[in-house]
Amino acid sequence: MKNSSIRFGLFTSLVAAALVATGCVSSHHACCSMPMSSVQTKASQAAMTPTQALAELKAGNERFVAGKSLHRDFPAQVKATAGGQYPFAVVLSCLDSRQPIEIVLDQGVGDIFSARVAGNVLNDDILGSLEFACKASGAKLIAVIGHSNCGAIKGAIDDVQLGNLTGLLTKVKPAIDAVPEDDQARTSKNYKFVDEVSEANVKLVLKEIRERSPILSEMLDKDEIGLVGGMYDLKTGKVQFYDTDAK
Ligand SMILES: [Zn+2]
Repeated sequence: MKNSSIRFGLFTSLVAAALVATGCVSSHHACCSMPMSSVQTKASQAAMTPTQALAELKAGNERFVAGKSLHRDFPAQVKATAGGQYPFAVVLSCLDSRQPIEIVLDQGVGDIFSARVAGNVLNDDILGSLEFACKASGAKLIAVIGHSNCGAIKGAIDDVQLGNLTGLLTKVKPAIDAVPEDDQARTSKNYKFVDEVSEANVKLVLKEIRERSPILSEMLDKDEIGLVGGMYDLKTGKVQFYDTDAK
């Protein structure tokens, strides 16, 4: 009993220290003394580096997987953010209902920008949104997060034709070609192949962001922002982040 309360105390101290380190002030939930998250401010956003932004996304996903997401008073966060927003990251992820990105990264109101589109593909409007998030609004990290068993990836592999979806899936097709030919079946029934295409898709999007946006490319070269890819596992809730050049 004593040991567990010491461990719990250590845990809350570590979380509090992590929040202070990211410039985010914490308080404690009235009924259970669990740490509560407050909102991002101009000062907390300015104090954060791309590396710290990535560390907070990783820590948030670890909290989510462990069932230890921070308590949030959402109505209070709505009021606190009404006058302005200072998100520390922008995440491009899939439309899939099983990957609600703020929840799986344990982030609250005003913490991250979120762009969601089937297959987490890039287009001019998404690219413009990323530029808005970083250049105009101060976000320190772009994260592109695909997921396992993605229906959009499977649709592209199966060459699905369906209204406007056809054009969207065309954007995924270069990722199919990017997976080297080997003995495995290149079909949507082969989950390993589907996930390899998802990973290739994320990596192509990362490359495209640099190539198609002089604004973001310059910010990356100056280490003003970081760029990272990752894959969300629908079975475990875990995000595996790839190696990054975030500093
Ligand atoms: Zn998907």
